[in-house]
Amino acid sequence: MAEKKQRQVVISRSAANGIISYSKALHPNEGILILQGKVTRELVIIEGLVIPPFASSGPYYSGFSNFSLPFDNSYIGSAHSHPGGSNRPSLEDLNRGFYGAVSIIIAHPYEDSTIGAYDRDGNKLEIKIANS
Ligand SMILES: [Zn+2]
Repeated sequence: MAEKKQRQVVISRSAANGIISYSKALHPNEGILILQGKVTRELVIIEGLVIPPFASSGPYYSGFSNFSLPFDNSYIGSAHSHPGGSNRPSLEDLNRGFYGAVSIIIAHPYEDSTIGAYDRDGNKLEIKIANS
């Protein structure tokens, strides 16, 4: 059986910078952001960030209620920080439920190279930072 091809994630330079600076500002707590952009068959394109309403965060948990979000189909996923230094999804991340098409995790020290992207099955996706 043919394996389903995974999407590639393309994030704008300014959105990547936004995730990096937001994560640094909240460190040592986790930060969480909503990703805005569009999803095609082959790509997840991240163009902007939204700070979620009613976000809660702490050293080991960050989250928001999907129910508090207005319906908006430009919201394509979420990004959150891992102050602990691994960008793999934690058990809580997997159990919490998945929002949108992609989950971005950035690990301390919050650099381009510590950004990871995952689909709803927990598969790691290729991520590219666009220079425009
Ligand atoms: Zn996490």
